[in-house]
Amino acid sequence: MSTLTVLNPATEEPLVELPEAGVDEADRAVAAAKAAFPGWRAVAPADRGRLLRRLATLVEENGEELALLETRNVGKPIGDSRGEVGMVADVFHFYAGAVDKHHGETIPVAGGVDFTLREPLGVLGLIVPWNFPIAISSWKLGPALACGNTVVLKPAELTPLTARRLGELTLEAGIPEGVVNILVGPGRIVGQRLVEHPDVAKIGFTGSTEVGRKVMEGAAGTIKRVTLELGGKSANIVFADADLEKAAASAPYAVFGNAGQDCCARSRILVERAAYDRFLDLLIEATKGVKVGDPEEPATEMGPLISADQREKVASYVNGQVAFQGDAPDGKGFWFPCTILAPVENSDRPARDEIFGPVAAVIPFENEADAVRLANDTPYGLSGSIWTGDGARALRVAQGVESGVISINSNTSVRVSTPFGGFKQSGFGRELGMHALEGYSEVKNVYFATD
Ligand code: NAD
Repeated sequence: MSTLTVLNPATEEPLVELPEAGVDEADRAVAAAKAAFPGWRAVAPADRGRLLRRLATLVEENGEELALLETRNVGKPIGDSRGEVGMVADVFHFYAGAVDKHHGETIPVAGGVDFTLREPLGVLGLIVPWNFPIAISSWKLGPALACGNTVVLKPAELTPLTARRLGELTLEAGIPEGVVNILVGPGRIVGQRLVEHPDVAKIGFTGSTEVGRKVMEGAAGTIKRVTLELGGKSANIVFADADLEKAAASAPYAVFGNAGQDCCARSRILVERAAYDRFLDLLIEATKGVKVGDPEEPATEMGPLISADQREKVASYVNGQVAFQGDAPDGKGFWFPCTILAPVENSDRPARDEIFGPVAAVIPFENEADAVRLANDTPYGLSGSIWTGDGARALRVAQGVESGVISINSNTSVRVSTPFGGFKQSGFGRELGMHALEGYSEVKNVYFATD
């Protein structure tokens, strides 16, 4: 079997060498999940909930170890990793409580009683990216297990460590062997195999729009269900009547957080022309305050990029229009400084592509209609923000922007109990909250004649 070297992106040092799965291992993992399915779907709802609750508690008890593992593997600041691991525990707590609250309906019909059942799909392939490895694993595992499915979870090749540990914790929690199978291997081989495997009922995919398209094509062969959480190029819309200081203090973290490797990154900052110069000055001042450095230092706010390839890709977007560039450590590690490009046109390359690095494009707009037009002038539709002191305008613009998640006078996108997902080429299906359960179950209609 070939092996995979997992690196620490802050030091470029190898962390561990792992065996790399191929098609045979993928098939074995699917077979194990298939064998475990009848037993797992038959577990009483309250007991399934209890097992998920135990998993949540184990994540809390092992939180510091998981956070450090995530930081070393992803280069994510330790404060962020602690927050994300805390969310993972909350996600399992939420779905532990959701198991017996996902109801069917009764529907009035002639001559009998009609009701719906929510049934598990069977074996699911869960495919996860490298930017939020443990968090996104839990967003899929929680609802999948709550609905009674068994899974094969494939983390990204660059960041498999926390998913592997989570797999161990599911066993420790008492979730039977075979219910959760972790498969470490290349996407184009084992990911593709899961997509095409006839015994896999659904693919829950998070990753790039490009690979999402391949997943959708591959799934067509077996009419497999898919949910796709893909890329973004979200707008942070700042009107002149906003609290500019507050908007500018928050904006750097909405695009430089996770070193910009965030599908929700507000990497297009649209600013009303009347406030453009003032806002840009405030934004640059706030960006100077972002602490870039060793991810294991508690005060660090931004670490390195994930890989040398990613750094090369990000750098290709920075060749002019640089209004500000911060500092980053020299030497080993895939570092890239916070970079503000201004003024940028929405048709310019840095405003079109998902850069997935710490690069913000600041774009002027003339009025409300122009702001909505520019925000929507992108193939993506994942997230976004509106900053204004006018409540009615905030609500009009929130309705006008074509994205699955939007925040007003805030840059937050993700909560355990609220639906998350994209419009347009950012994908379809929703994760988190009760909405996620829709994507991890089938509706069966039953009619019982009474005459
Ligand atoms: P990626 O698309 O390269 O890989 C994602 C996963 O798919 C990995 O596990 C990879 O191994 C696997 N994969 C690769 N080729 C495959 C194939 N042919 N068949 C099946 N699986 C395959 O994405 P990435 O570079 O790991 O992550 C970054 C991307 O993820 C960005 O575009 C980002 O916006 C997106 N993302 C989206 C969300 C969201 O919720 N919308 C969240 C985080 C990241």
